[in-house]
Amino acid sequence: MVDKIKNVKIYEVNVPLTETFKIATGSRKNYAGIMIEIETESGISGFGEAVPVPYVLNETVPQVEEFLKEFSKYLLGRNPLMRGEILRKLRKINAPHSGSTAVNTALWDIEGKTAGMPLYRLLGEDGKKIEISGTISIGTEKETAKSAERLLKAGFKALKMKVGLNLKEDIKRVELVRSLSKKAKIYLDANQGYSAEEAVKFANSVAKFGISFIEQPVNAGDIISLKKVKENSPVPIMADESVKSANDALTLLRADATDYVNVKLTKAGSIEEGLKIANLVHLFGKKVMIGCMVASPLLIAASFSLFKAGRFDFADLDGFLTFSESPVEGGAYIENGYLKISRGSGLSVKEIKEKYARRIQ
Ligand SMILES: [Mg+2]
Repeated sequence: MVDKIKNVKIYEVNVPLTETFKIATGSRKNYAGIMIEIETESGISGFGEAVPVPYVLNETVPQVEEFLKEFSKYLLGRNPLMRGEILRKLRKINAPHSGSTAVNTALWDIEGKTAGMPLYRLLGEDGKKIEISGTISIGTEKETAKSAERLLKAGFKALKMKVGLNLKEDIKRVELVRSLSKKAKIYLDANQGYSAEEAVKFANSVAKFGISFIEQPVNAGDIISLKKVKENSPVPIMADESVKSANDALTLLRADATDYVNVKLTKAGSIEEGLKIANLVHLFGKKVMIGCMVASPLLIAASFSLFKAGRFDFADLDGFLTFSESPVEGGAYIENGYLKISRGSGLSVKEIKEKYARRIQ
């Protein structure tokens, strides 16, 4: 029997963070996202999460909620396994990428639950743990040292430092973190905070500390500056905000403007697009990281499977590390610096906790 979509529930989800997340473009004290639950006639619930981030995607929570309400009318009565057709529709109407991600991952969740398999297995991969980096927000030297020590103690083997607000202080903070661990991998992310000249100076100053890469040193739309930094940096450069689709990645790769690319499900809009970008970057002989916004174990569970299927080189998937509590039952979790996935089919999420969710449809 062909299953059909019977109902689409939409929730606004808010979770306080245990520490302020501060990057070059702003700071936040809580997670604010939207979750959907697509119910089918046969009794399966598929879960999806949208994290609208105004500064990257130019999408806001109210706007994505409106989109999801409207799109659920299109979904009702459809076969949830017709994921391809639904994705083409999402692309055709130019759906907000974060909203498209929520719908697409909820459909993958339904497919996994229908088949009785975890998503990574559906994609032909295993569920073994993934080494991930732990994030250090922009802060004073004291705050930086405290975060680094906490992450090292928690077992993280890679530290991702946010930089981009003050060149001199950034260099001092990197030196400080390196002094706390000789072995840890250090990733740096400027979130568009530098000019090309500053970025080149920064890269040349921190290279001696053994840096894996520097992410998005300059403005997302400024490919010329990105290429200039890449050509004058002893440290590999990674594009993040500059890449929201396979087309964006192709433009940068053809211009030889970046060494690596950071793919996030929220930016890509679907598992399919995320895979396309990863494959494209690898075809050009470059490396690819899977990243995330401040996001819950639901979206990170989908990212876990995307990492496996796209054979990503780096993982920055600690999006819920500072959540006071997970707003969902099941999904991904972090142990000793590794990302693991709960048992269960699809995304392994069993429910959205009422405590943090307000149902709006
Ligand atoms: Mg980034």
